[in-house]
Amino acid sequence: MSFSLIEIDPVHRIYSGHFSSFPEDIAVHGVSCRRGGVSKSPWDSLDLGLHVGDDPADVAENRRRYLAALGLDASQLVTPEQVHGEAIQRVGRSDAGRGALSYADSIAKTDALITDEPGLPLLLCFADCTPILLLDPAHRAVGIAHGGWKGTVRRIAAKTVLRMQQEFGTRPEDVLAAIGPSIGPCCYEVGPEVEHQFQEAFPGHEAALFSHPDAAGGTHLSLWAANRLQLEEIGVLRGHIDEARTCTACHHEDFFSYRADGGQTGRLGAVIALRS
Ligand SMILES: [Zn+2]
Repeated sequence: MSFSLIEIDPVHRIYSGHFSSFPEDIAVHGVSCRRGGVSKSPWDSLDLGLHVGDDPADVAENRRRYLAALGLDASQLVTPEQVHGEAIQRVGRSDAGRGALSYADSIAKTDALITDEPGLPLLLCFADCTPILLLDPAHRAVGIAHGGWKGTVRRIAAKTVLRMQQEFGTRPEDVLAAIGPSIGPCCYEVGPEVEHQFQEAFPGHEAALFSHPDAAGGTHLSLWAANRLQLEEIGVLRGHIDEARTCTACHHEDFFSYRADGGQTGRLGAVIALRS
């Protein structure tokens, strides 16, 4: 298992993060990088978010370029209005294009999408929060979840797998999961309230979740570990969980980072689609 950046569009120099554990014959996936788009500062340049003040025409062009380089049709993509909640929506053919060109038209108040519809790209947007991609090769179904700290502590990744079980008959032991680039334990200092919520939600896992890299500083949280733990708890095999282990703040030359970029920045996209 490994995560690497691959140049998928040599003309525009667009790179995409790729997990080697996801079978390419079943699904297409990617985590977008920052270069190769048309957006201007502070969204420069491949901003895929329609809700951060960028010119919608620039975002549409960026989405078109990135999806096309993955072999997907950006006019078909389905994307939600992410609200750091735990709502999970199953989408199908009739949802194709929702949120593709207009944020108002996106799937309302939803932080995870699942589908068994081939050729329907699911897109979620991130700048430091954790993307979780899910693939059930046995039932040919996919999912994607938004794991900020709120979604992570509410176990949205695990709940998305359980929803796939309800909807598609997915067995957790068949699921391939990928934990994408996000703010790492190196850079993610949290206050006592967040620390307390994670202690309550994941008792006995303090060593995996918390660290104190600066002698004088506060507690750092690993969203990567919290997402891995909740997937393992419901039966996803450790050997099926691929982790990018890539910090968006440390690597903000490659990825948009809310913290490292000072709050106003673009959004990277995580995309997954079943092959037609
Ligand atoms: Zn870092």
